[in-house]
Amino acid sequence: MNDQIELCRRLYNAGLTERKEAYRLSQTSLTYNLQQNELPAVKSDNPEYNDIHSQVLCDVLNRLDKAYKGFFERIKNKGKKGKKAGFPRYKSRGKYNSITYPQLGFKLIHKNNGSKKGILQLSKIGYIKIIVSRDITYGKIKTCTVKRDKAGDWLATFTVELPDTVKKPLEQIKEQDIIGVDVGINKLAVLTDGIEVKEIDNPKLIAKYEKGIKTLQKQLSRTKKRSYNRAKIRKKVAKKQRKLANARKDNLHKASNQIVESENIIVFEDLNVQGMVQNHNLAKSISDGSWGKLIDMCVYKAENAGKYIEFVNPRNTSQLCSRCGAVVKKDLSVRIHSCNNCGLVMDRDLNAALNIREKYIRNVWNSVKMPADALTSTHLNEQAGAMKQEFPML
Ligand SMILES: [Zn+2]
Repeated sequence: MNDQIELCRRLYNAGLTERKEAYRLSQTSLTYNLQQNELPAVKSDNPEYNDIHSQVLCDVLNRLDKAYKGFFERIKNKGKKGKKAGFPRYKSRGKYNSITYPQLGFKLIHKNNGSKKGILQLSKIGYIKIIVSRDITYGKIKTCTVKRDKAGDWLATFTVELPDTVKKPLEQIKEQDIIGVDVGINKLAVLTDGIEVKEIDNPKLIAKYEKGIKTLQKQLSRTKKRSYNRAKIRKKVAKKQRKLANARKDNLHKASNQIVESENIIVFEDLNVQGMVQNHNLAKSISDGSWGKLIDMCVYKAENAGKYIEFVNPRNTSQLCSRCGAVVKKDLSVRIHSCNNCGLVMDRDLNAALNIREKYIRNVWNSVKMPADALTSTHLNEQAGAMKQEFPML
């Protein structure tokens, strides 16, 4: 695999040189197809490339093509985002670390019996033992990328195509199928449908890894530059950091699954709203970005599950009393919402989740629900059907 990555890296760089030269000599832009047609010649001149699956080589040229397209895209958008458009670069050994089978040439052999052990068969490479950390049997596997990480370990990534799902029409969704979600600092998220409450915690494992990394980094700062010991500890740090990143990601996947599975309409605060002046949200925006990732995951998972994700303005969601609407000022250190006006005492995150849910119902849901005279006959029939299910005694 190391050999293949190295050969692919050289192909990438050669492809880049060719494009640059073509432009320098004759102002022509080479396309992906032109370069792909040269692959047989590359193979006959350099027989070692016969040991790599042909689609993997196509993918290398495709990456180069994408880098070019990205570059021109950035030039077009220059000024808009103020970003400088960097030209595609040559890849050094440390910067090229994966190969992709974009369609064929790989097979994941995995018994779906709860065991995580599997075999990955890669054309022109062989059979590799693999830990299947997540179940992906529910979709059609499309691509496979094999990656070498900084700690020298190997990972396989699959993209999976899922069947299309149909969303339940809004008119058929009941108010109790709406949940408000507050993403928090102590807890990852608090969910409520107005009656029941679910809390999702940050696992202790993450804190443990964070502590471990800190200790190692302290050790690292005490080692001599370019010493063997330094290299050794640096590798350990990389390994721990990967574990931490995986634990975080894994946790976000679990949490987002839990959130998306819970109800039909899921309401978050829109953390991208301008002018997030409240302490509550400021702290969120400057934190490690877990919330953004969690919400992104919920959005795409909801798409697959046929659920609705909605956003409300985060203004005052942590300060208002969810029972009487009075403003109860509190900074981040105050974990309990305690209302002098109506006497409500509850967890601040739950109070916020209730407000988020209520805001959506008041501002959006109530106007989405069709007024009775606007109903067509089909709607009426559906409504009647729904009513029958709801009240079978009638
Ligand atoms: Zn109150």
